[in-house]
Amino acid sequence: EFITVSDLAEELEVKPTDVITTCMNLGMMVSINQRLDASTIELVAAEYDFDVEFVDAEEMIEEEIEVEEDKPEDLEPRAPIITVMGHVDHGKTSLLDYIRKAKVAAGEAGGITQHVGAYEVVTDDDKKITFLDTPGHEAFTAMRSRGAQATDIVILVVAADDAVMPQTIEAINHAKAAGVSIVVAINKMDKPEANPDKIKQQLSEHGVIVEEYGGTNQVALVSAETGDGIDDLLEKVLIEAELLELKANPNRLAQGIVLESRIDKGKGTVANILVQNGTLKVGDPFVAGPVFGRVRAMENEHGTRLQDAGPSTPVQLIGFDGTPQAGDRLIVPKDEKTAKEVANQRQQIRREQSLRRVKHMTLDDLSRRMALGEVSELNIIIKADVDGSIEALSGALQKLSTEEVSVNIIHTGSGAITESDVLLASASDGIIIGFQVRPTAGARKLAETESIDIRLFSVIYDAVDEVHDALEGMLSPEI
Ligand code: GDP
Repeated sequence: EFITVSDLAEELEVKPTDVITTCMNLGMMVSINQRLDASTIELVAAEYDFDVEFVDAEEMIEEEIEVEEDKPEDLEPRAPIITVMGHVDHGKTSLLDYIRKAKVAAGEAGGITQHVGAYEVVTDDDKKITFLDTPGHEAFTAMRSRGAQATDIVILVVAADDAVMPQTIEAINHAKAAGVSIVVAINKMDKPEANPDKIKQQLSEHGVIVEEYGGTNQVALVSAETGDGIDDLLEKVLIEAELLELKANPNRLAQGIVLESRIDKGKGTVANILVQNGTLKVGDPFVAGPVFGRVRAMENEHGTRLQDAGPSTPVQLIGFDGTPQAGDRLIVPKDEKTAKEVANQRQQIRREQSLRRVKHMTLDDLSRRMALGEVSELNIIIKADVDGSIEALSGALQKLSTEEVSVNIIHTGSGAITESDVLLASASDGIIIGFQVRPTAGARKLAETESIDIRLFSVIYDAVDEVHDALEGMLSPEI
């Protein structure tokens, strides 16, 4: 079913009552707000000598805001965008605070006065780095689960007087699932009991291997308290950025991402935006998710009004017609008309398809998707009661990889299935297997809204069997 009687009347430029009469003549009783199916629309339209073309609305939008690829010669280096991750109390906030105080205040009078979701650092040799304000892998993966990725490089903070902890491992796996580079900051080096070698050793067991161990991960020894080693850390971030060849084209219409948004009594919707490509200018019409807008004003983290904002610049922006969500993409189309149209279409699609969620991978669905050639990998998160069962399960499941589908264990951990596991599954289109553990109440709820397949087992053989059957196409697909 597509549009309503009144929508159709508008398209045909007749009165809704005319459409109702036409339908009656065709033997159908319809009301003004009733949705008509395709064949009825065609019949009615034919009465008015209209041809009907059905276009997939989403495809249409894709087309309309299809963003041209940049030519290599138009690309210029851009600042890397950083998220700080690590176990609780290992010093993420302290590190962000130190860098903000030491590196930002230097150039700009007044320092940071405005929360714009991120801030820009200028190093001694005049290179820029953009730090996202919200540390931790949860925020990072929540953004990804909405289809948005803002981060280029993760700084993984590990306290030198502690050890690689469960959330360190989560951070590693979340960063890896996103394909983001990791630079290690071994923090709290001012403490007498600091033991960086132990940390490097433990990190290597989790696939983060520093150069002196033959790997490619850069590591800096720092103290967020004294500031020792921070310059070295920033330098290593820049080296990593150079390797990644991060580039953007400042001379095009802007594309960005909504980091946060809120409603301000005086200003209306205020959103923090990270410009990812192009240059955003005051006066530009834009569409952010389903929301139309026109850039009324932009401010940076110093409260300075900006006329334009180039790649990797975080800004606070006003001028929205509605309120977008974190993770929504902001695009400046070629003209205001297109921006409005796209916003309208998206609103309509969201209204009509509010029930249509992104369908995530389920074991039952695997065979069907395999038959369609849609899947080449099955991402699995394993949570179990003890390390022994995790090892046994991941070993056995990995061996189930076939020529068509490789089984990837993207994260494992002991303890209950948490919301962060569900977010990772959502961001990576994976499933979760719990062995002798259960989801927390929050995780269960989130799994429901995100439609994530959580399978609970108490016998390893059963888990292996079920995944095997799914891979062999032996589970009957869910209707
Ligand atoms: P987060 O939970 O990872 O954000 O950790 P915090 O930044 O809140 O730091 C946790 C605790 O460790 C706080 O009491 C900090 O003062 C302390 N801390 C952080 N970095 C350092 C450091 O380099 N040296 C020392 N001695 N303490 C630190």
